[in-house]
Amino acid sequence: MKLPSLNTQILLGAVLGLVLGAVLAGLGRTSPVTQQSLYAAGLVSTLFVDLLKMVLIPLVFASIAVGVANLRAHRQIHRVWVATLGFFVFSMAIAIVLGLSAANYFRPGADMHLAMFADATRGFAAKQMPLPEFFAQILHSLFQNPVAALAQGNVLSVVMFALILGIALVVGGERYRNLLLLMQELLELMLRIVGWIMRLAPLGIMALLLNLAATQNSALLGTLTKFIAVIIGTTLLHGVVLLPLILYLVTGVTPLHFWRGSREALVTAFATSSSTATLPVTLRCVEQHLHVKPEIAGFVVPLGATVNMDGTALYEAAAALFIANLAGIDLNLLQQTIVFCTAMLGAIGAPGIPSAGMVTMVMVLQSVGLPAEAIAILLPIDRLLDTFRTAVNVEGDMVGSLVVQKLVRA
Ligand code: ASP
Repeated sequence: MKLPSLNTQILLGAVLGLVLGAVLAGLGRTSPVTQQSLYAAGLVSTLFVDLLKMVLIPLVFASIAVGVANLRAHRQIHRVWVATLGFFVFSMAIAIVLGLSAANYFRPGADMHLAMFADATRGFAAKQMPLPEFFAQILHSLFQNPVAALAQGNVLSVVMFALILGIALVVGGERYRNLLLLMQELLELMLRIVGWIMRLAPLGIMALLLNLAATQNSALLGTLTKFIAVIIGTTLLHGVVLLPLILYLVTGVTPLHFWRGSREALVTAFATSSSTATLPVTLRCVEQHLHVKPEIAGFVVPLGATVNMDGTALYEAAAALFIANLAGIDLNLLQQTIVFCTAMLGAIGAPGIPSAGMVTMVMVLQSVGLPAEAIAILLPIDRLLDTFRTAVNVEGDMVGSLVVQKLVRA
């Protein structure tokens, strides 16, 4: 019997995972069937994510160094930098404006107040993160001992070191040709291994989503329905309408073509809630399915995975307004402008791991004097919201690579 294509298997796995998870949630957490299924799903999902993380660092390292080295040969590196950073800031700004507008219009949380959540916030101490300290922390995380960064899986410092190495490789010229060839071969090998890991993706994604659906806190979901609906609605609006529209206007790539090429990465991002763990899949989609040149993809996508987060930016801004409503505080235009800037910084600074946005959101709240403890209310529902925002974060990176390729060639 011929199996359906990998993409179809992944989508089937996702749907099956959600349905089985809902059934288990119905049986209750204490039922032995639920416990055993959750245990098995935990093993499979951990295996899948671990395998992706296994190839992540060598892949990012080789992909950026080779990308930069090849770009320099085309004398385009300057344009690629400008187009990439320009696109990142532009798309995150649109996402934040969307999040702020929706939160101002629908005013989630206006009919509730913080005191209702006294139990959740009591005893929860948010880590202090004033803006200057946050800045210093980002700057410090850029340049680290590369061996430590590689060993600890610190993607941003690996990206920076690989960039510098790539530049040095070309400036050095012919003399270092062998090392460049070696990196090229390493990159090809890693992508080959990613292809093998993806055969496990249908099962891995099923297990991740089963866990997610079976362990939701339904009481809290009920209380916060309006907020959840506003966040998911605006995140989808950005991901399904605005990003594809920008892509179409700039490159002429149709949404259907984009969806066909990108769905493996989008579903993996949704299930893992981690742009970083998804990165090997994102690179594969962009290079092999969407046909972005490796030198552009190798630069834009790994950098975007930690820097460009539209979903996170939108969420941090909208959630800050939600908490202001809960606290009974009306943020004026100046304060909302501060939220705009800090949400952008928070998204740039958040590493691509599950719930990272929650940590940098403390800084957004503190910048306008909101109680940081209030994020304790959002933590229990974060696993759910993180799915959508991570998928949009990854989508932004893929759209970015196509847009940059077009802008640089034009
Ligand atoms: N989980 C997100 C990501 O990996 C980051 C966040 O928490 O917003 O892209």
